[in-house]
Amino acid sequence: MSILVYALHYQGEFNKNSLGAVSEGAKLANEIGGEAAAVVVGEGDDLTDELCASLGRYGASKVYRARAPEGLAQPVVDVMAKVIADNGYKYALFGGGLLGFEIGAGLTARLGAGVTMEVTAVKAQDGKLVAERPILQDSAIVDVGYVGEPGIVIGRLNAFDAVESGEGTAEVVDVDVQLEEHSTRATMVQRGEQRGADVNIEDAEILVAGGRGLGSAEGFELCAQLAEALGGAVAATRAVVDAGWYPYAAQIGQTGKTVAPKLYLAAGISGAIQHKVGMQSSENIVAINKDPNAPIFEFSDLGVVGDLNKIIPKLTDAVKAKKG
Ligand code: FAD
Repeated sequence: MSILVYALHYQGEFNKNSLGAVSEGAKLANEIGGEAAAVVVGEGDDLTDELCASLGRYGASKVYRARAPEGLAQPVVDVMAKVIADNGYKYALFGGGLLGFEIGAGLTARLGAGVTMEVTAVKAQDGKLVAERPILQDSAIVDVGYVGEPGIVIGRLNAFDAVESGEGTAEVVDVDVQLEEHSTRATMVQRGEQRGADVNIEDAEILVAGGRGLGSAEGFELCAQLAEALGGAVAATRAVVDAGWYPYAAQIGQTGKTVAPKLYLAAGISGAIQHKVGMQSSENIVAINKDPNAPIFEFSDLGVVGDLNKIIPKLTDAVKAKKG
């Protein structure tokens, strides 16, 4: 009754998405009467005992460490397929993200398993996992159960919260895996940041998002100043990304990123369903819009009806004054 979770690390740190998946795996394993273990793959010196064992703080009881190329899907598929074959895990869980999707899909094909993608929540029912997946442009949610083993669950990016559940350290187990011939054909040539992706909006606790109501690319300066005062980052709608006002890396929504910050401040954003699906899990949603009937007010915790050009500078000054 155990769950195997993939954890991605880079430069000596696990990302928030992976820590969320480990936390969720531990919570669910507890509910179905099992344990959660994590798989970590890499070749660098940063993959220390200490780093691997730190996943115990998020509820992993064991961490399988394999020395194989990191950042590529197929070597991880080889590792996870072996760990599952040797230890009989009932479920494999991924936090989503590009690599999570690719590894999850590869593992599904390799094992002939059942898979659910874009999962937003998982529940335990009668000792089994049931994945919840939005369908029809997120207008309905279906429950997906699994027949046979293992069941593969691939979450939406940041769908699961990273929760430190204690001081625990995980047992670190080294796994020796013979990689498939095809798994070594791709090599990592270079890692680089996507243009405009200098801020990691998925990990930011505060996002100031701008939409077409900003009026122009220059309008983003207002969002940038407020984000800086709040210690957050700037995000955007597809309308402004398509217009070339802001980089795609910051786009939130169905065809962009899914985020769940503590505060999502939406300025000049109408609240279209395709935008909503990327930010609706935010803890607090504050919207500034001059149209009192804008759909975003239907799912905001706080709505301010007015001209953002007047409100944002005053808000920025107020935040600075408060902090000062
Ligand atoms: P608008 O809808 O034009 O809204 C602008 C808002 O600003 C209005 O509500 C207006 O009242 C307000 N405003 C104007 N001036 C001011 C002012 N001075 N002060 C205050 N408020 C003001 N969208 C996404 O965001 N992300 C996606 O990933 C995405 N994927 C899509 C996928 C598909 C298949 C499709 C069909 C669409 C997708 N869209 C996506 C587009 C989406 O449908 C909307 O068109 C888009 O989100 C609208 O962006 P917006 O809110 O910036 O602009």
